[in-house]
Amino acid sequence: MKILFIGDGQLGQMLGASATRHGHECLLFSTRTNTVKPLSAQLDLPHKLTQAIEWADVVSWEHEAIPADIMTAARAKFLMDPERIQRLTDRRDEKSLFDECGVPTSPWQAFTTAAELEQILVQAEQPLVIKAARGGYDGKGQWRYTMATDPHELAQQAGQVPGIVEQLIPFKREVSLVGARNQDGSICCYPLVTNVHDRGILSYSLGAMDVVTDALQQQAEASFRKLTEALQYVGVLAIEFFVVVDGSDVQLLVNEIAPRVHNSGHWTMTGANCSQFDLHIRALTNMPLPLLRLEPTLMLNVIGAAQIPDALWRHPDVECFWYNKEPRPGRKVGHVNVRTPNRDTAMTWVEQWAEQLQVLAD
Ligand code: ATP
Ligand code: MG
Ligand code: MG
Repeated sequence: MKILFIGDGQLGQMLGASATRHGHECLLFSTRTNTVKPLSAQLDLPHKLTQAIEWADVVSWEHEAIPADIMTAARAKFLMDPERIQRLTDRRDEKSLFDECGVPTSPWQAFTTAAELEQILVQAEQPLVIKAARGGYDGKGQWRYTMATDPHELAQQAGQVPGIVEQLIPFKREVSLVGARNQDGSICCYPLVTNVHDRGILSYSLGAMDVVTDALQQQAEASFRKLTEALQYVGVLAIEFFVVVDGSDVQLLVNEIAPRVHNSGHWTMTGANCSQFDLHIRALTNMPLPLLRLEPTLMLNVIGAAQIPDALWRHPDVECFWYNKEPRPGRKVGHVNVRTPNRDTAMTWVEQWAEQLQVLAD
C-alpha cells in the first residue's frame, strides 16, 4: 500500500519506519515546511502535496492538526471523517465528546473572554486548572488557580484566548490506555501504563509492569470502545486518565485523548511483539489485530539533553531512540526503553538517569 502521513516529527518518522518494514511505500508531509519527504532515497515518488495525495491509498497523521486544504483534497483517502478528528484539537469539543459518550471526566466549563473567566474564578470554591482551548501540549497553555490567586490578574493572563476551566483532580496516579480500532470495529489495547509527569511533560512510563486490576483495565477499555465508536475511528488512539481513589472505590477520569500514536506507547517498541506503530499500520491496512505478548519495560524520555550517554547505548537491557532534533530545554529529543523485571528496578533506573537525560524549561 501507499501511505501518506501528515507530519514529519518523531512520530511520523517512527510510523514511516514501521510502514516501510511492513512492505508499504510511505511519504511524510511536513506541515512546518510544507514539503513532501520520502522516508528513504526513493527518487521516483511525488514531491508535491497534490501529487502525493493522489499517489496515496491511505492518508494518516502523526498529529491531529490537519490543514484544511489537505482535509478537502484527501477526503476520500482518510479511513474516517477527518473533521471528527480535527474537532479534537479544541478542548471544548473534546470535553463535550466525553460528556456525550458518558465517559467520566473532570467537571468543566468553557469561557471565551477574560471577563467570563474572571466570573468563573471569583465563584470558585476549589482549585482549578485553566487550559487554552487550542494548541496546548506538554503542559503549555495551562494555569493553576488556587484560593490564594488573584482572579483578575490570572484572568487577564489566561483569558486572552478561549479555553476551559476544570477542577484540579487530586489523583493518585496517571495512567494511559493505548490501543487500536480496526476497520471492522475490533479493538486491541495494551495494558494501562503508569505515566509520571514533571512540570507538565511526560517524564517516564511504566509499561506492562503495573498492578493493574482487571476491573480497571475493563473500565478503560469500555471508554476506549465508546470513544472510538463515536468517532468511527480507525488506527491507534491514546486515552490519558487520572486514577481517583475514594475509599475502596477506584475510578478513572479521562483527562484527554490523542487520536494517534502517543509518547506513553513508546515502551511497546521494546516491550511488545507488536509496537504501537506496527499496530497503527495493521489497522490502516486492515490486517487482523494481534494477540499481544508483552514484557515489562520502562520508557524514559530524553528531554533537552544534548545526547544519550554512551553507557546507555552500550547497555544490553536498553534500547535508545534519538530523534535527530536540536536539543532545547523542555523539548523531547529521544527516549530510552529499559527492560526491567519490575517496578522497583525501573525506579532505580529512573533515579539514576532522569536528571541527566532531562533538561526541563523553568
Ligand atoms: P500532553 O503533552 O499530554 O498532550 P497537555 O499539554 O495536552 O499534555 P494535559 O495532559 O491536559 O496537557 O495536562 C498535562 C498534565 O497536567 C497532566 O498530565 C496532569 O499531570 C496535569 N493536569 C492536567 N489537568 C489536570 C487536572 N484537571 N487536575 C490535575 N492535574 C491536571
Ligand atoms: Mg494534550
Ligand atoms: Mg496530556
